[in-house]
Amino acid sequence: MKQVSLKIKNVSKVFKDFKGNEVRAVDNISFDIRPGEFVTLLGPSGCGKTTTLRMIAGFEKPTDGMILINDVNVVDIPPWKRDTAMVFQSYGLFPHMNVAENIAYGLKMRKVPKEEIEKRVNAILKVVGLEGFGERPPSSLSGGQQQRVALARALVVEPSVLLFDEPLSNLDVLLREQMRVEIKSIQKEVGITAIYVTHDRTEALTLSDKIVLMKSGKIEQIGSPDEIYEKPVSKFAAEFMGKINFFPIEIVEILSDKTVVRLNGVVYEIPTHPTSKSEKYVLGCRPEGLKLSTKGAVKGVIKTIVYLGNLSEYYIDTQYGEIMVKVLPPFDKNFVEGKEVYIEVMPEIAKIIADD
Ligand code: ADP
Ligand code: MG
Repeated sequence: MKQVSLKIKNVSKVFKDFKGNEVRAVDNISFDIRPGEFVTLLGPSGCGKTTTLRMIAGFEKPTDGMILINDVNVVDIPPWKRDTAMVFQSYGLFPHMNVAENIAYGLKMRKVPKEEIEKRVNAILKVVGLEGFGERPPSSLSGGQQQRVALARALVVEPSVLLFDEPLSNLDVLLREQMRVEIKSIQKEVGITAIYVTHDRTEALTLSDKIVLMKSGKIEQIGSPDEIYEKPVSKFAAEFMGKINFFPIEIVEILSDKTVVRLNGVVYEIPTHPTSKSEKYVLGCRPEGLKLSTKGAVKGVIKTIVYLGNLSEYYIDTQYGEIMVKVLPPFDKNFVEGKEVYIEVMPEIAKIIADD
C-alpha cells in the first residue's frame, strides 16, 4: 500500500450565492496529514467540511492556496488523476449491477484485465466482510452492507487517499456504531491515508488520529481526540465536544504547575493552565466533573433528576443558569427534586477556557 501525506496550505474557497453575493465557504485553512493517518473534519452544518473534502478530491478548485499530495501541488490536477476515492452518505451503488459488478466498475474503467478484476474484487469483499455476496443485487443488502460495498468500491482501485463525507448518517444508531468500528479497523488494516467528514463528535472521537475542528470556514482547533476534549481552546470547542457547564471566574495567580482561580468567592487550585489567552475566563466543567454537596461555590435548586440506571443526571437551577451534574451510584437520597444543593468543582478535570 502506497502511503501519502497531504498538506492543506492557506486554502480558501469563495462561492457566489444565487444573488451573486460572495460566500467564503472555506477561509484560509491549513493543516497537515501524515501518511496513513485518519483525520476527521468536524464541525456544525455549513462550516465548510464538504467543500474542503471536495477540493481535496478535485471536484472544486480552491480560490486560494495549495493542496499538496506527497509535496506535489494538485490544485490543477483533475479528480480522476488525483488517486483519491470518495465514500458518500448515499451509497451511490448502481442498482442494475450486482455487488461484484459495482465494485469492479472503477477497475473496468481503468481497463484492468478481467482475471485481475475478479481477484481484486474477491479480495476486497473479504476485507469488508462480504465474502460470497458478489452475485447479490445491492437492493437485497441492508444499509450497513450497502455502505460496505461502497467502501469496497472505493478501496479496490487502491487509491492513495480515502475520503468520506458523512458516510454513516443514513444508518440507524446500532449499525452506525458497528460500522464505525469496522471503518477504523479496515483503514488501519489497509494502512491508507483517510479524511473523514462528520458533524458527529462521537464519530470523530472514536475514529480519528487527529481532529480538525471547523467553525464558519475556519479552523477552530486541531488535535488528537483527547487533546480537543480535555484542552478545548474555546467555549465553542468545549461545547462541540460534549455537554459542559461554564462558570465565570477570576484568575488569582498563574503558577508553574497550577492556576489559582476564584469562583463566586471560593478559591480553587486548578492543576492546569488556561488553554488560550484572553481578558476574561470561565471554568469549564463537564457534568462528570461536578459533585453535589452540602457546601461549595455554587448554590442551586434541583429541578429535575433523570435516572439512567448506571448514572443519574441532575439539572440544577443556579445563578449561572441551568447546570447539569452526572452522579454515579450510590445516589444520595437527600438530594431530591425541589431541594437546595451546593455544587462542588473537581479541580483535576476542570478547564480554564477563554470567555470569547
Ligand atoms: P458542511 O459540509 O460543513 O455542511 P459545506 O462545505 O457544504 O458545509 O458548505 C459551506 C458553505 O458554503 C455553506 O454556507 C454553503 O451554503 C456554501 N456552499 C457550498 N457549496 C456551494 C456552492 N456550490 N455555491 C454556493 N455556496 C455553496
Ligand atoms: Mg457537508
